[in-house]
Amino acid sequence: MYDLNENLKRSAHNFPDRPVYVYQGESTTYAELDQQVEFLAAGLAKRGIGSGDAVALLLDNRPEFVSAYYAILRVGAAVVPMNPIYTPREISYILSNSHTKAVVALPALAPTINSLKEELPELQLVIYTEPVGEELTIGQLISEKATEYEEPERHEDNLAVILYTSGTTGQPKGAMLSHRNMDSNAEAMGILFELEPDDRVVAVLPMFHVFCMTVCLNGPIRSGSTILIVQRFHPVEVVNVIRDQKASCFAGVPTMYNYMLQLPSATRADFSTIRVCCSGGASMPVELLHKFEEKFGVKIMEGYGLSEAAPATAFNPIRGTRKPGSVGIDLPGVTNKVVDPEGNEVPRGEVGELIVYGPNVMLGYHGLPEETKAALKDGWLYTGDLARMDEEGYVYIVDRKKDMILVDGYNVYPREVEEVLYQHPAIIEAAVIGIPDEVHGEAVKAFVALREIAVSQEDILSFCNDKLAKYKIPRQVEFVAELPKNSTGKILRRSLRS
Ligand code: AMP
Repeated sequence: MYDLNENLKRSAHNFPDRPVYVYQGESTTYAELDQQVEFLAAGLAKRGIGSGDAVALLLDNRPEFVSAYYAILRVGAAVVPMNPIYTPREISYILSNSHTKAVVALPALAPTINSLKEELPELQLVIYTEPVGEELTIGQLISEKATEYEEPERHEDNLAVILYTSGTTGQPKGAMLSHRNMDSNAEAMGILFELEPDDRVVAVLPMFHVFCMTVCLNGPIRSGSTILIVQRFHPVEVVNVIRDQKASCFAGVPTMYNYMLQLPSATRADFSTIRVCCSGGASMPVELLHKFEEKFGVKIMEGYGLSEAAPATAFNPIRGTRKPGSVGIDLPGVTNKVVDPEGNEVPRGEVGELIVYGPNVMLGYHGLPEETKAALKDGWLYTGDLARMDEEGYVYIVDRKKDMILVDGYNVYPREVEEVLYQHPAIIEAAVIGIPDEVHGEAVKAFVALREIAVSQEDILSFCNDKLAKYKIPRQVEFVAELPKNSTGKILRRSLRS
């Protein structure tokens, strides 16, 4: 049976003295974490939290994220992970939509939480990571050393996490992920990356994002490996952790690889203990992949996923063939298919919508039956991403359906144009969007951030000239200091449109 909570118990039993995580140079063992989780779980149960409840985490990457996450699961409740920099309006919406009963938060969020208490009658319990007046803290709950609580009935289809994703329009939607969804994905990633107890996995992606949760938290705990917790992404700091803590696995979004590549101080020796890097969350420009691998002597395996699939559906394997530009093949136990608008599989090589089937596919969106029906058909998850598959089953993500640009009726996929821009020696980052055009319907506009090299719009356009069909060549190029990114580090084309 898939059960995230059992994984921690099993690893604590098998490897009690191994470090489960290292944070700011201090290690905590599996036995210590399991004991903290036990006390915290009993403390939560004593205050009325149990099966069927939802508990939100408003935390950045820190040990308390790990202990609170597993304590919530241990009492049979579901975790609602949230970005602690959300606005009060966003926090209020998610807490109310998920019927959250308790919150574990950073002290900085106390004013926001206090101001929302009246509009959130279901919120009964607030726990902070550090003291805030007379409020309860995680430390207090642990020091109570309570151990008595009723063991909840466990089933792998029980809700483990409600993950709010921004979606394309309107309010965020809560993807309901069961223990089976989350744990089967952690298991599949562990098999693929051959995760062993000796592995040391860097967790610098935000823990409230499913990529980190599965690859850098649940996966390592399932395998008895060590998590190297890094609070926020700062390229120098991350490279220091990789070197000093002898990291063996690194997971990041492409922009993280780009920032590390730009560091003049980082060398091959810093990455000498790395066994595997994985990239996901956004397309990895092939140029960046090659440059990073060449400079640091590591291999980057690109994969694809989304919150609704807990998250990974395809990955390049570390054994066998890896294809740069592709997100790889079906994850063990998962099936990817490319279909036409009627849902029929298209011939290999043709572009269609990527759909996914497997134990990782979400139960549905919380309280949104219509949206669930649109996303899940006969058990297949419609991803909203356009892709093609080659004869060997390797998936190539073309772009998001909604980001496609129509110039004179021809499809332009931003990613294809961005790939060319990344080949330009002066360009560090590039993103492409569609803008309204009276004659052609839409035109391509590029945003680029440059190295310290003088370059004009004309230089860039002539560089694109022999690499792209005429209608795909940007009509405008805007120079920016940096591209807008979300907290995971994904480039936000959405903000460039507004
Ligand atoms: P999220 O639910 O926030 O994890 O976002 C999922 C979305 O990220 C997917 O629907 C894709 O549009 C995008 N994505 C994830 N991985 C990749 C990848 N390797 N290449 C291109 N897009 C990706």
